[in-house]
Amino acid sequence: MKLLQEKILNEGSVSGNDILKVDSFLNHQLDVEFLNEIGKEFKNRFANERIDKILTIEASGIAIASIASQHFGSIPVVFAKKVESKNLDKDVYETKVYSFTKDKEYSVKVSKKYLNSGENILVLDDFLANGRAALGLKDLVEQANANLSGIGIVIEKGFQEGRSLLEEVGVNLQSLVIIDSIDNGEIKFR
Ligand code: 5GP
Repeated sequence: MKLLQEKILNEGSVSGNDILKVDSFLNHQLDVEFLNEIGKEFKNRFANERIDKILTIEASGIAIASIASQHFGSIPVVFAKKVESKNLDKDVYETKVYSFTKDKEYSVKVSKKYLNSGENILVLDDFLANGRAALGLKDLVEQANANLSGIGIVIEKGFQEGRSLLEEVGVNLQSLVIIDSIDNGEIKFR
């Protein structure tokens, strides 16, 4: 997605050799008009899939999924919770996700009320790096006996192992941009 590549080059910044910061439009401030273009593009990429619900993970995934939903007929958006909360139902699907950016494992939960057997689920998230968040969401879909229609990612870091892990297990993976390398602050797209 050319527009997204330009946005990353104009507004993104690099931290170290593998972290891209896009706080101005995706991870802190939200560029709603731009996210709407992202939502449209997800609809194009998954136009042939049956999708009943979108599943994402808090926090940044919520905005992406909510805006995208409107291009899929305003289907429900469910976000998996990673922040501990006393209010969450006790009856949950739960999985563990290791975060390389934070160097810790955390628990990800969805109430059993909101993922149901036989539903067709599209998973959306902001970044794909080592694939742990995406695999965790896939695990939640499987625990619910729902079907994973695909995984849509805004920014894939193609130099990390996420794609190969997801393709190995047959996931229909669509990333709107793939970064091949981040070298001395220079971003190269595939
Ligand atoms: P994975 O589970 O694929 O290793 O990492 C994906 C998750 O880590 C994303 O949901 C995102 O929150 C975070 N993440 C990984 N790499 C980056 C990055 O370069 N920039 C930002 N902003 N988040 C990242």
